[in-house]
Amino acid sequence: MINFFKKKVVVRFPPSPTGPFHVGSARTALFNFLFAKYYGGKFLLRIEDTDKERSKPEYEKNIFDSLNWLGINFDEEVLKSSERTEIYKKYLDKLIKSGSAYISKEPEGPNREVVRFRNSGGKIKFKDLIRGDVEMDISELGDFIIARNINEPLYHLAVTVDDFESNITHVIRGEDHISNTPRQILLIEALGGARPIYAHLPLILASDRSKLSKRKHGESVSLDFYRTEGYLPEALVNFLALLGWNPGNDREIFSIKELIKKFSLEKIQKGGAIFDVKKLNWINGEYI
Ligand code: GLU
Repeated sequence: MINFFKKKVVVRFPPSPTGPFHVGSARTALFNFLFAKYYGGKFLLRIEDTDKERSKPEYEKNIFDSLNWLGINFDEEVLKSSERTEIYKKYLDKLIKSGSAYISKEPEGPNREVVRFRNSGGKIKFKDLIRGDVEMDISELGDFIIARNINEPLYHLAVTVDDFESNITHVIRGEDHISNTPRQILLIEALGGARPIYAHLPLILASDRSKLSKRKHGESVSLDFYRTEGYLPEALVNFLALLGWNPGNDREIFSIKELIKKFSLEKIQKGGAIFDVKKLNWINGEYI
């Protein structure tokens, strides 16, 4: 193993406990885990519960149970956004003092003193390990809101402060988050940090190529569905690994140990990955 990233690899998985643990989240967790283990780095789990209304203890428990069942182990103590208000406040103050953010008096709405980031506009370019060079126009975002008020940070601020404090080297997450990346780059640079390397994973599609969603596909998007149906965790790990990744040959059966040795972000496809239940059944059969 050659670590051409020079720094010790540190990745994070910050799910929001706002619903049953999704198979897509399981894949994101697995890819982060495999990448970290391959490089002898760290895989950090965080609970991103900035949405107070929708976050529930039972969903949080479901995250831990699911990862444990799959055998995806994390390193270090788990950070929880709702317990870090004071820390975020310190960084909000810092951003306000340096002029990167300001308290904006809103004429209307429930939040009268929001904190906005001062966005100078233009374009942001970044390298994505899967998508290549990405360029996005940030002018339209305007001075975006980073906190409802000084005591209530929003997702972008919380997640970036956490990435900054833990020296995250790689952000590996679903493609649906690619539009969040420019705001998080602006924030981490304003905090005085280095931007991590990004890798946005292809969407997971149903067999009819529509996006896998709870509304359309019901219970079958939650990991618990497969767990209660009696699928083996080893089979699910193997199946999830093949959602967007392949080793470059015909081989399809891999233990988690073998995946750690073979996995690489460079071999991930850009196009959507089909969630093919027949294939899962076949893999599960092989394990039985
Ligand atoms: N809480 C976000 C989610 O679960 C995290 C996204 C990220 O990785 O930044 O979608």
